[in-house]
Amino acid sequence: MILILLGAPGAGKGTQAEALATATGAAHIATGDLFRAEIAAGSALGLEAKSFIDAGKLVPDAVTIGMISSRLAEPDARNRVILDGFPRNVEQAEALDAALAHSARTATAILLEVDRDALVARISGRRICSGCSRSYHLTKNPPKHEGTCDACGGALTMRSDDAPETVAARMTNQLAALDDVIAFYRASSRLQVVDGEGEIGEVGVRLARAAAAVGLHE
Ligand code: ADP
Ligand code: AMP
Repeated sequence: MILILLGAPGAGKGTQAEALATATGAAHIATGDLFRAEIAAGSALGLEAKSFIDAGKLVPDAVTIGMISSRLAEPDARNRVILDGFPRNVEQAEALDAALAHSARTATAILLEVDRDALVARISGRRICSGCSRSYHLTKNPPKHEGTCDACGGALTMRSDDAPETVAARMTNQLAALDDVIAFYRASSRLQVVDGEGEIGEVGVRLARAAAAVGLHE
């Protein structure tokens, strides 16, 4: 099955998806991480995506859908997948359904609901690992050793699109499309809502329960 983790920028999708994937053995696939890896590698796809990401806009569907289709065809993505950051609009949601129509797999969504004011505080303290992409927070989820990833020892950096002006653009450009995606899954009775407020561990317990209820794990 494919579990889609929906939420606004900074809602905790990456943090929770990583923990849930580790606990359940599902693959964690995050389109933002895939784009950042392409940018770091200096690929043509990365170059094209970068201008949109830096402007706080969605990368065009043709690029994004092509990239995620290739990733979903890899061996580790054949069974259970947690999708983080995709779909971001209705066109992408429809493309995912169309791709799954020829397989026995189904896609169902869980929304991590977080108050808008909390998002900016979360994003401003976010640091990510340049090696494995793990997400930290300066005060809410700090690494054991300052500036260093607990998991792989990589250097922690601030995302360029977490600068305040780009965060504002992301909220303006992306939240309406998120509402449409939420409505899309709700209309087909494939949406669960989980309260994303509170400590990371508490949210994780609520999410794991909801993920079990939709069949990701026992
Ligand atoms: P998303 O992938 O949805 O953009 P992240 O998982 O990267 O969000 O989380 C955004 C920031 O908020 C990170 O710095 C993360 O450590 C922090 N964070 C995640 N969940 C919580 C929470 N429940 N309470 C406080 N901070 C959180
Ligand atoms: P994220 O790491 O999920 O916050 O994504 C970072 C940025 O990558 C977003 O602000 C978008 O510019 C781009 N991006 C990530 N996922 C998608 C997607 N599914 N469709 C279009 N753009 C995306």
